[in-house]
Amino acid sequence: MSPLVLFNTLSRSKEEFVPSDPSLVRMYCCGPTVYNYAHIGNLRTYIFEDLLHRILLLNGYTVKHVMNITDVGHMTSDSDAGDDKMQIAAAREKKSPWELARFYEDAFFHDCARLNIIRPDVAPRATEHVEQMIKLIQQLEAKGYTYETPEGIYFDTAKNDDYGKLAGLNLAGQREGAREDVNVDTNKRHPADFILWFTNKPTHIMKWESPWGTGYPGWHIECSAMSMEYLGETLDIHCGGIDHIPVHNTNEIAQSECATGHVFARYWVHGAFLNVASGAVTGRTAEKMSKSDDNFLKVQKLVDDGYDPLAYRYMCLMAHYRSELTYSDEALKAATTALSKVWELKARQSGAQGDGLTDAEYAEARTQVIAALNDDLNLPRAVAALQGAKSYRLWLEFDSVLGLDIEKRSREATSEPGDSSDLPTEITALMAERDAARKAKNWAASDALRTQIEEQGYTVGDSPAGTVVQKKLL
Ligand code: AMP
Ligand code: ZN
Repeated sequence: MSPLVLFNTLSRSKEEFVPSDPSLVRMYCCGPTVYNYAHIGNLRTYIFEDLLHRILLLNGYTVKHVMNITDVGHMTSDSDAGDDKMQIAAAREKKSPWELARFYEDAFFHDCARLNIIRPDVAPRATEHVEQMIKLIQQLEAKGYTYETPEGIYFDTAKNDDYGKLAGLNLAGQREGAREDVNVDTNKRHPADFILWFTNKPTHIMKWESPWGTGYPGWHIECSAMSMEYLGETLDIHCGGIDHIPVHNTNEIAQSECATGHVFARYWVHGAFLNVASGAVTGRTAEKMSKSDDNFLKVQKLVDDGYDPLAYRYMCLMAHYRSELTYSDEALKAATTALSKVWELKARQSGAQGDGLTDAEYAEARTQVIAALNDDLNLPRAVAALQGAKSYRLWLEFDSVLGLDIEKRSREATSEPGDSSDLPTEITALMAERDAARKAKNWAASDALRTQIEEQGYTVGDSPAGTVVQKKLL
């Protein structure tokens, strides 16, 4: 089996993945800030992380996957300025921040389940790990990495020689640019310095006692404290979206490595953004999908529009995780059609002949799929190999990675026409017409009838006994 290779943001190159402990892969992913629904852009990042998790399993590893829930401390600007997103949203929705957090956390996991994203082994909430954060800040304080301003306790980036190594940041350049920003705490020694603990927010609802006064933690310290709590001081893999490279992940590395003296994460794997095509949601030109904007699509909206969430998952598989992906209705429709064809393969191959592949051909196709998956998660190449082989068996074998419910959906697509007694007569009539057209080899008519049935909200497959339809499961 070809070895698993991952693009490591730290080295900006592909590296063979070797966990520090062969019996367990320690994987951490930055989780959602639960002040709103996740949009399908956020979920693209969680789908990519899920694929990585599943490919590690395919390679025989045991994985411990930890993903935090940020329910306090994430300010409207990633660099600590503004207000806590939770507090603003709680006021808007007239809920307590605690109620709000639980509501959106549940909604998040519901959306993940609809996209077949495996639930992380541990999903720690920031508000339940404040003690660990305080301890970590104390460690940094004892080693001289912190200073205090009227706003709170800061991390002093000047004391950290390799600060910015993940993003290749140039601190001298940053010093100039940031002077213009009126929201920045003027007592900060350097614009890159970041808050570990806020003390000067008397109106903040979520607050805790600390050695520095009543307050709450900064967003970055949460990930360091919670990842180390569940995975130890050195993680094998740390994931996130690319927007986290210059600030959030950079600060996680600085504070973790200064506190422990050890490497924080050995492989940094980042996913590219989902953009929105010109006019697809707002009528404006192409741009990235963002929660603070009106170009925001939720899983529920896809469902309300008649799409299967797994079609969105399939759309994500067709782009490499390090390439930007542009959302449009056309792209999602194309993914829906392609996925229905996969689900219909079993019906087409249910005869004695099956997929018609010899054992050698099957083994060759299998090797190609694994090579693509292990080559930095090259899903587009893996999907192309699967499409080329046209084998239900092969799709089914790799569904442990793809997560497309191949077995269940194919079973539904092969249910005998006799099972369709609960279908509306309008649909059974169209099915009979289509069977007659197919018998007469009138493919144009049979295709037109397929479209007609699909437009009524059904998937159409073929079995030896004739047309098989299935209500789209939304
Ligand atoms: P947040 O809940 O804002 O902290 O973001 C959760 C995750 O979604 C992070 O890993 C972000 O990097 C990622 N993310 C945010 N916007 C997008 C987008 N348009 N496409 C892909 N990932 C995104
Ligand atoms: Zn994080």
